[in-house]
Amino acid sequence: MGRKRLVLLGPPGAGKGTQAKMIAVKTGLVHLSTGDILRDEVSRGSQLGQEAKQWMDRGDLVPDKLITDMIEGEISKADGFILDGFPRTITQAKALGEVTPVDIAINIVLSRDDVIKRLSSRRTCRDCGRICNSLFSPPQVDGRCDMCDGELSQRSDDHPGVIRKRFDVYTRQTAPLIDLYRRQGTLQEIDGNLPPEEVLERIMALLVNDCSENSY
Ligand code: AMP
Repeated sequence: MGRKRLVLLGPPGAGKGTQAKMIAVKTGLVHLSTGDILRDEVSRGSQLGQEAKQWMDRGDLVPDKLITDMIEGEISKADGFILDGFPRTITQAKALGEVTPVDIAINIVLSRDDVIKRLSSRRTCRDCGRICNSLFSPPQVDGRCDMCDGELSQRSDDHPGVIRKRFDVYTRQTAPLIDLYRRQGTLQEIDGNLPPEEVLERIMALLVNDCSENSY
């Protein structure tokens, strides 16, 4: 069996990015986050970034065609991957299915109230990209990253109005993917309220069990 092709599903704030980074370190699988790629395009002021920004700032999804054009090459190149934030619509899931099969889709489950609570206190380190939470695990020094002392910042779309909009968009456009992957027989679910280390442990157990030769 080749390297694993993993999709992380779940609402914004469920911990997909945090988990994907940790899984990538443990397994060597490539972590592909459409949100991170888009934020990088926005900060570089590229044409794609300028176009995508208007949708992102409102909490809407960037049009499917822009996303699939952006990510398909990366997916085809990767020998095994963790997809974080893609696919987010049925159209994107179909486009993905035409490029490669998915071995396992893991849905990290979190309620609307928990999403709102978590995202309003989420902070990202400007230097190392580490994600932390100013409410649940406050940094030792206010506003500074525990790992590298970099400055902690709040994402421009992590504000109450936009957070609610993103959750509604998730419910309407992305949640239907849960059923799609369930029908394909690749779906697994994990409680996103568990401590991050416990979520990681469960994901790793699923990956190992799903792989007869224990190669990720
Ligand atoms: P994320 O970091 O995954 O929460 O993504 C941040 C924002 O980027 C989303 O609210 C969307 O506007 C946009 N985005 C990220 N991934 C996708 C995707 N697969 N399809 C459409 N828009 C996306």
